[in-house]
Amino acid sequence: MTATVSGGVEGLRARMSGPVLGPGDLEYDTARSVWNGEIDKRPALIARCLSPGDVGAAITFARDEGLEISVRGGGHNFGGAAVCVDGLMIDLSALDEVTVDVGARRARCGGGATLADLDAATQEHGLAVTGGTISHTGVGGLTLGGGFGWLTSRLGLTCDNLVAAEVVTADGHCLRASPTEHPDLFWALRGGGGNFGVVTTFEFALAPIGPEVHLGFFFWPLDSAREALRAIRDAVDGLPRGAGSLVACLNAPPAPFVPEQYHFSPGVAFLIVGFDSAEEHAAAVAPIRAVLPPAVDFITPMPYTALQQMLDESTPWGIFGYEKALYLDEFTDAAIDVVVEQFPRKTSPMSFTPIFPVGGAFGDVADQATAFGGSRSTRWVFNIAAVAPDAEALAADREWVRSFWEALRPYAGSAGSYVNFMVDFEEDRVRAAYGPAKYDRLAAIKAKYDPANVFHLNPNIRPSGH
Ligand code: FAD
Repeated sequence: MTATVSGGVEGLRARMSGPVLGPGDLEYDTARSVWNGEIDKRPALIARCLSPGDVGAAITFARDEGLEISVRGGGHNFGGAAVCVDGLMIDLSALDEVTVDVGARRARCGGGATLADLDAATQEHGLAVTGGTISHTGVGGLTLGGGFGWLTSRLGLTCDNLVAAEVVTADGHCLRASPTEHPDLFWALRGGGGNFGVVTTFEFALAPIGPEVHLGFFFWPLDSAREALRAIRDAVDGLPRGAGSLVACLNAPPAPFVPEQYHFSPGVAFLIVGFDSAEEHAAAVAPIRAVLPPAVDFITPMPYTALQQMLDESTPWGIFGYEKALYLDEFTDAAIDVVVEQFPRKTSPMSFTPIFPVGGAFGDVADQATAFGGSRSTRWVFNIAAVAPDAEALAADREWVRSFWEALRPYAGSAGSYVNFMVDFEEDRVRAAYGPAKYDRLAAIKAKYDPANVFHLNPNIRPSGH
C-alpha cells in the first residue's frame, strides 16, 4: 500500500505534541535509520510521538490518508520492520521514560525505551526484569515477541513478567490491558508481536537482582569445538536453576582477559552468570572447568548493568546483519557435528552463533498461558547471525547463515522459530512458530482489535476472516 501525502500533514502537526518529520527535515535521515546498516527505507513521514494521544493522531491520519504504518520501538529488527516505504513511521524513541515503584516492585516503561533505559532505572533500586543481551535493543519489540536474556531461567521471558500495558489500537483508542482489563489483548501482547496495537507503556514485575553479579567466560579453540560443545551441552543440565548461560561459536574478542594468541581466533565460548554468591557461582562453573579445561578461563564479579552492556560492541548500531534461528529440544551429537562443520565456513570475523540454553522459569509457564511463539519444552534457542561491516561482506555470510540453517533444520523441534529472530516474517514460519491452535486464537483477537490488519509490518497474524 503506497500513497502520496495530501495537504493534511499540517493538520497532523497541529494535533501532535511531537514533531512530524519529512524528507526535507534535518533529522529525517537519523530518524529513519535502524540498527541494521543495510536497511535504507524512506517513509513519507515520521511521527515522533510524545504521548498516547500523538500515537492515536498519527494512526488516524495515516488511515485517513491511506498510508502504510510502521512502528519503531528500538529499531533492532534485522529486517527493518520499524521503517516503512512511502508510509508513516510511528517513532516511539522519545517515549523512553521508566519509573519504578519500589514498594510494589513494578516498573512502568515507555514503549520506545531501550533495555539500557530500563536496566538503569530498575538497578537504582537493585531490581531487574529479564532483558536481552544487547542493551541498545528496544524493550518494545523484545517484550512483544518474548524476550530471552541472562535472566530467562530465573524469571522467565520478558513477556512472562509483563503485568499490564497501555495500548493504542488501530481505531486510535487508548486501552489498558491486564489480566482483568481486555484480558484477550493482554494474552496476545505476551508473545504475539506488534500485531495488536502500539504499546505506549509496558508495566513489568521486578525481582531483586544484583547490583553485583558473577560472570564466567570460558573459551575453547576450533580444534576442540566438538568436545567443547558436547561438554557444554552436558554441563548446562547441571547448572543451578537461576543461573544465566549463553553458548556462542565466535571469534574470541581481543579483550584483556583473553591471551593474545587467541585474539580473533574462532572457537566456542560458554558464558555462565551467577546472580547469587561468589561461592555458588564458583561451584556452578567447577564441573565444566574440570571436564574440559578451557583455553581461556576468566571469572569476575561485575555490576548487572555492565553485564547487560558487555556484548554491545559485538553488534554495534549501524553494522550490517542477517539472521536465522530455530529451536532445538535436544542438542544431539549429530547436531553438534553440523555446527562443527558449518561454523568455520563463515567469512566475517564478526559473524557468530548465539545459542541460548533455556529451562527453569521459562519452562514453568504453560504453553497456552501466553501467546509466545514456541514450546516451553524447548531447551535451546539456536541463532545463526551474519554480522559484517558492509553489504559485500554481509552477502557472503547471508549464504552461510542460510546453508547452516538448512543443515541444522532436521534436528529442530517442531515449533518453528523465535519470531524475534526472524528477518523476513515469512507467513509459513510465523504460523509454525505459534502452531495452529495459538495462531487461530491470535487471529481471532487480531480480528477484534485490528480487523483491517493496519499493523502488519511484524510477524504478521492475519485477522480471522480477512
Ligand atoms: P523494532 O525494529 O523497533 O521493532 C520490532 C517489531 O516490534 C516491529 O514489528 C515493531 O513494529 C514492533 N514494535 C516495537 N515496539 C513496539 C511497541 N512499543 N508497540 C507495538 N509494536 C512495537 N532478542 C532476544 O530475545 N534476546 C536477545 O538477547 C536479543 N539480542 C539481540 C541483539 C541484537 C544486536 C539484535 C539486533 C536483536 C536482538 N534480539 C534479541 C532480537 C530483538 O528482540 C528483536 O529484534 C526485537 O524485535 C527488537 O525490538 P525493537 O523494539 O528494538 O525493534
